[in-house]
Amino acid sequence: MISVAAETTDLLLSLGVAPERLTGGDLAARSPITGEVTARLRTDDVAAAAHAAERATEAFRVWRSVPAPRRGELARLFGAELRAHKERLGRLVTLEAGKVLSEGLGEVQEMIDICDFAVGLSRQLHGLTIATERPDHRMMETWKPLGPVGVISAFNFPVAVWAWNAALALVCGDPVIWKPSEKTPLTALAAQSLFERAAAAFRAQGGEAPEGLSTALIGGRALGEALADDPRLPLVSATGSTAMGREVGPRLARRFARGLLELGGNNAAVVRASADLDLTVRAVAFAAMGTAGQRCTTLRRLFVQDAIYAPLLDRLKRAYASVTVGDPRADGVLVGPLIDAAAYEAMVRALDQARAMGARVTGGERVEVAGPEAFYVRPALVEIEAHAGPVLTETFAPILYVLRHERLEDAIALQNAVSQGLSSAIFTADLREAELFLSERGSDCGIANVNIGPSGAEIGGAFGGEKETGGGREAGSDSWRAYMRRATNTVNYGSALPLAQGVRFDL
Ligand code: NAD
Repeated sequence: MISVAAETTDLLLSLGVAPERLTGGDLAARSPITGEVTARLRTDDVAAAAHAAERATEAFRVWRSVPAPRRGELARLFGAELRAHKERLGRLVTLEAGKVLSEGLGEVQEMIDICDFAVGLSRQLHGLTIATERPDHRMMETWKPLGPVGVISAFNFPVAVWAWNAALALVCGDPVIWKPSEKTPLTALAAQSLFERAAAAFRAQGGEAPEGLSTALIGGRALGEALADDPRLPLVSATGSTAMGREVGPRLARRFARGLLELGGNNAAVVRASADLDLTVRAVAFAAMGTAGQRCTTLRRLFVQDAIYAPLLDRLKRAYASVTVGDPRADGVLVGPLIDAAAYEAMVRALDQARAMGARVTGGERVEVAGPEAFYVRPALVEIEAHAGPVLTETFAPILYVLRHERLEDAIALQNAVSQGLSSAIFTADLREAELFLSERGSDCGIANVNIGPSGAEIGGAFGGEKETGGGREAGSDSWRAYMRRATNTVNYGSALPLAQGVRFDL
């Protein structure tokens, strides 16, 4: 295989990123596949963030008046660029984030899907007509563009999360300023470059796509803070750890801005005795080991009913032993590397804590694949009795804690007994159990599934979670409303002036 750095540069250039952006800077971009430096990028400072906000504000003045279905045409053109470059961008995601190739491609497919969704949405940004108590009056609700939107994103979905936000924001009439993770800046440059091509195609049709409609800023936490504090951004969508949300949320509240927070998860599945074990093993394997345990929706806690505990565990151990860990570009590999040394150290710490609590750990060892700067691990199955210690926190690595239960109510209570509330699942053939799990007495998460693992959502539904996951909803359903402001309009088409609630004000 050719070197990761050389392949990364080739892909970036072919996706339209200028070569001078990739050298001589202060931020070393690395690939987790080998740990090697792939580019040295100049970072943007806080003044650049302020400049981007100014440009986005100017762009907003133009873009808000472009009819929404025309804005949808830009989303269509962006989707076309992504379709044409899916293989290259998908491979770049693999090189930069370490996902196996089908997941790298899947991430780009998700971007295409949200563009398609946004095209349809651009003709459906409708409000209500509401019955009014006054004669000769009409009351309605209308939705208006909100203003420039800040997007802060995490390393593990380096481009899809931005696209979820950007595609919707743009058809809603809002420019976007994006601060990608400092661990994955290169895919961001590539995605921004493809967006600029789409904007150029839109202009070539005679469309008005102002400069500053989409800006990518490269840098770390200080840039994120600058976006959170900028009064020109009425909405900041921030995806990442709960620790990050705890910083960003109050900053937004201080200036009464909207936050769309998509934070950490500690996702669980309940397996009941009636479950189809073949299906359950496959679903658990993907949800717990896929993306090397680095999805916000990764399955981290498994509650297994006593009667099937031994057979299910036996099958899971075999599935875990069969999984190939290695270079995510290679055929047959299902588990690629952790993002960096810190992720590996966090995994070791969590497993040590679990062992100290008497847990039995299968797997979890480091695997030598590409030298000391690359961090590959065997996914870990942890049989543990207490729902405590590391089980209660999100360790962003492939660790699955397995616990026994007998009564479904007890399993639901435990699954809800963590501070996060993102995703959850039940495996059962019993309709009553499935419905109880989905009911108001069931899972308290933003996502609750039956006979499907907690990870791997489609874009059609609203995505997000409760409690310390932040409460935000992105992607499908009516998530678009976060990107618009609602106005209630009352029109009097009569010649009298009746006041609401029968109030009199006779002059
Ligand atoms: P992270 O919190 O370290 O960083 C996320 C982003 O926030 C980065 O761009 C970072 O530069 C920025 N940031 C960090 N501190 C900030 C601050 N104080 N102010 C402003 N910006 C700041 O997260 P990560 O390690 O990149 O990603 C993993 C985490 O993201 C996990 O907790 C995972 O569950 C979560 N995640 C959640 C979702 C979701 O939709 N709920 C999706 C993907 C990832």
